[in-house]
Amino acid sequence: MPSLGRATESYNPFWRSGLAQIAFVGVLGVVACVSAISPRPGSGSVPVVRGQFKNGRDQIVRIALATNERGGAEFVPGLKGQFVVPHENDFVLWKGKRYRGEIEISATDSGFLVVNRLSMDDYLRGVVPLEIGNRTSTEMAAVQAQAVAARTYAYKHLTDARSFDMYATVQDQVYGGVDAETQLSNTAIATTSDVVVLYNGQPITTPYHSTCGGSTAGVSEVWYDQPDQPYLRLVSDRIPGTDNYYCDPSPRFSWTQTYDAAGLRAVMEKYLANYTNAPKANLGRIIDVREQGRTPSGRMAALTVQTESGSYTLRGNDIRFVLRDPKGAILNSTFFTLLAATSGGEVSSLSLSGRGYGHGIGMCQWGAIGRARAGQNYRTILETYYPGTTIGRIAG
Ligand SMILES: [Zn+2]
Repeated sequence: MPSLGRATESYNPFWRSGLAQIAFVGVLGVVACVSAISPRPGSGSVPVVRGQFKNGRDQIVRIALATNERGGAEFVPGLKGQFVVPHENDFVLWKGKRYRGEIEISATDSGFLVVNRLSMDDYLRGVVPLEIGNRTSTEMAAVQAQAVAARTYAYKHLTDARSFDMYATVQDQVYGGVDAETQLSNTAIATTSDVVVLYNGQPITTPYHSTCGGSTAGVSEVWYDQPDQPYLRLVSDRIPGTDNYYCDPSPRFSWTQTYDAAGLRAVMEKYLANYTNAPKANLGRIIDVREQGRTPSGRMAALTVQTESGSYTLRGNDIRFVLRDPKGAILNSTFFTLLAATSGGEVSSLSLSGRGYGHGIGMCQWGAIGRARAGQNYRTILETYYPGTTIGRIAG
């Protein structure tokens, strides 16, 4: 996590100095009008987290809108002297996009930090549609499951350690403000109001990914330097009694990626040094690429790249950040087999046959869509992908 320095801990000296005017818009008038329902209507057994968090209407979240490539505060040019954050129809405008709540700008050691402060419910309206895509009403349970997973992640990531809670990018959850919102996702958020995933009575970190490819993964299978969690373990996405999988409608359920000698050498020279002790230049020819074992869910545990300058081993998710495509996009998943052909003492072609898209940990989003189409409700979907958890709610 980047360190932004003490300066970020007190908001905007501009307020006091009068150098800037920040538009302020109330948020209570625009919350969804769909009435909230209990996750277990008529049941008194729903676990409730009391006292630590506010409910979704009252809980403020702080989202960093402008960040640099290293994840730190971006220097925003043109903020010398007086400036105004304009507003339009009750929304705040920032770089042409509309946001609920308010925008706060504060000075940091490295520039200005632009933070959108708004309620949890309003934040989720700008997250859920971007994370699960445009869905139909028959897939509502998947959108509800996504809403609960995104809400739980957000409560878990509220922090006093810095002046914002989450980034507006894949570093946390993709957030697009008002223009991202859809009616279906707004309804999914409202009908799961304050519902979260709990383990030992507390919200958990709820990782999710596009497509598991047949089975989700335990944490350390992919993020090898992070501890396993009892509620993040291998879950089969096979449809019982069939050879099909809930996530096989995904466009990336299966895929291939190939390299010729020059293409393989290019990605290795560009990225291998970032994840191993390989030299940044003069790697030499790629002599062999070899699998080093499988994880319990069948993913590649490690991969050794033998070059003229030495042998280097990549582990877990790092493999994806080296074996990129020609445009620089990371490899779809670590759930693949490889076939290397050699000629003249170097790898002349490398062919990867894989399944799934994303890290594979926690909820499989395409699997959730498949399960929703099959009639499962959002509670079943969440309790499947986060085994051992309970579905409860935050009390205001
Ligand atoms: Zn899946």
